[in-house]
Amino acid sequence: MTCAGEAGSMEEAFALTREQLSCAPDRFDVRGPFVRSSTQLKTPLDSGLAWQTNAANFRSMLVRFTYADGRSRLVDVDPQMTARNWFPGNRFSVPVPSSQADLVAIDAVVERPFTRSVAGAARLTSLADSERELYSRSLAYMFMFGLLILPLLYDGLFYRVLRQGFVLWHFLMVATTSLFMLFSSGLVNEILPDIPLDLRWRLTSLFQALSAGCGAMVIAGLIEKRFLPPRLTMAMMVSALLPLIVKFIATFGGELTRITINNWFVFSFAPVVILISIVVAVALSRGSRGARWALAAMSGLMLVVAWRTVVAFSGSSLPFPINDMVFAGFVLLSLVTAIAVGDRFTGLKHEHDEAQMRAIRMGQMANTDGLTGLANRRAFDMVRTLKTGQGLLVADIDHFKQVNDREGHQVGDAVLCNVAGLLKGHLPAMDGREDDGSPGCVYRLGGEEFAAIVEVMEDHQLIALADRLREIVGRSGGEEGTAGLPQVTISLGVVLGRGQMMHEAFGAADRALYRAKREGRNCVRIGDADDCNADARVSQGSTTFGRAGA
Ligand code: GH3
Ligand code: MG
Ligand code: MG
Repeated sequence: MTCAGEAGSMEEAFALTREQLSCAPDRFDVRGPFVRSSTQLKTPLDSGLAWQTNAANFRSMLVRFTYADGRSRLVDVDPQMTARNWFPGNRFSVPVPSSQADLVAIDAVVERPFTRSVAGAARLTSLADSERELYSRSLAYMFMFGLLILPLLYDGLFYRVLRQGFVLWHFLMVATTSLFMLFSSGLVNEILPDIPLDLRWRLTSLFQALSAGCGAMVIAGLIEKRFLPPRLTMAMMVSALLPLIVKFIATFGGELTRITINNWFVFSFAPVVILISIVVAVALSRGSRGARWALAAMSGLMLVVAWRTVVAFSGSSLPFPINDMVFAGFVLLSLVTAIAVGDRFTGLKHEHDEAQMRAIRMGQMANTDGLTGLANRRAFDMVRTLKTGQGLLVADIDHFKQVNDREGHQVGDAVLCNVAGLLKGHLPAMDGREDDGSPGCVYRLGGEEFAAIVEVMEDHQLIALADRLREIVGRSGGEEGTAGLPQVTISLGVVLGRGQMMHEAFGAADRALYRAKREGRNCVRIGDADDCNADARVSQGSTTFGRAGA
């Protein structure tokens, strides 16, 4: 039990009688610039002791040790002493000056304490015990600290592969959490022995506020966008600024906010904690995988808070310092969210791959003819030139309208598919090309008109190729054919490539085709892009159509 009272000066504070002090377990409820805390020892104690209390932040402190012989010793606690004699959990030790007489009372007067727990929860312990505990708990902190280095390295590597904002937020969250732990535990005093108490206290809360803010951003990044309620997410991000705003006020509030601001700072975390919980709960109810990871990550801290609440209400004391449990909770949070970042990475990669596949499929669909599966007119129009070493064939089924009229549209469709298959099946084999499964070099331009681009060097090769196709199509239907379809013939116009524009080459091939039609059908005509009349009749087959014998 610590008893405390307030005064206007050091002297007045020491002069307060015990009756003027009010007692509370670990914090005082007075606002004055000088706060006196007093501990009366029931049984006198030996030497080799340390008086331990909360540090937080204060301007100066004088501790008066009173002995059984009536004499007393004053110890001036300068902020450097709190760094030199730091103790885990934002505490420090004051070695009790040795005396012949037993120690009977300890009174401390604090000038301008910044929180109500300064000089609170005081205890006397032997110097040896204090050393031992400092050693073992420092080791535990360093172990937890070491665990936090791993996610930092991991995030750094991850960010090189996945340039996603939330990986950076996770890095910042782990970094600020580590710094918070370093400053809050007191371990920072081992690295920076000269750090002023005031700076240490202010940086501790700054890192705490930053860590919560980054935490909110990590949660927003971990949960899949479709499961995130947008307004709630926005509210969560905005509420994460609140501790920083209070921190800002604390920096410039001076004496006006000195003793109250710490409570406000603690309360300022409530909105972001509540909103994070709601966002995670809503996303969980919608089946979010990221939210499950978030819940697992936060479970440690939630347990600590729940336990702390139960303990506070039941009035019992904790078997070990709550701060250490909170740190362990933070470590769990950082490690589990690191795994979640990896999991989200896999998810995002999967989504990205699927989107890419969809885009490819859509692109293929846009360039593919629905009936025959050949490339369509759009694909043909994308070919800019007919190069040297290439030839263009334009084929049209003869009297196809009559097939439709006589046999019906369905049979007409089957004939179209059959001719498409024959062209596609024979062209690559004939010009030695490998079929890669893409719509390839055969196109259905529309109706019963097809085009093909082939690799060929000479006129006579091109004509021979077209003529063979004509024969193959002519033989495939009717009674002699294997397709069970009416016999049809095709007429072809062909042109050899010399680097001309494709629309010019197509015009020439189309004119040649028109001549083939005019001159009896079921034949091949070659055209020249420069000379519309330069065509030659090279073959003439049967112009019969329909089922043979029908
Ligand atoms: P020509 O020898 O002069 O080319 O005579 P044709 O009858 O083949 O030519 P025309 O242009 O008069 O008729 C083409 C027919 O092709 C008309 C149309 O009904 C038919 N057609 C166009 N697209 C399709 C299709 O997708 N399926 C079916 N079954 N018929 C089609
Ligand atoms: Mg036709
Ligand atoms: Mg036609």
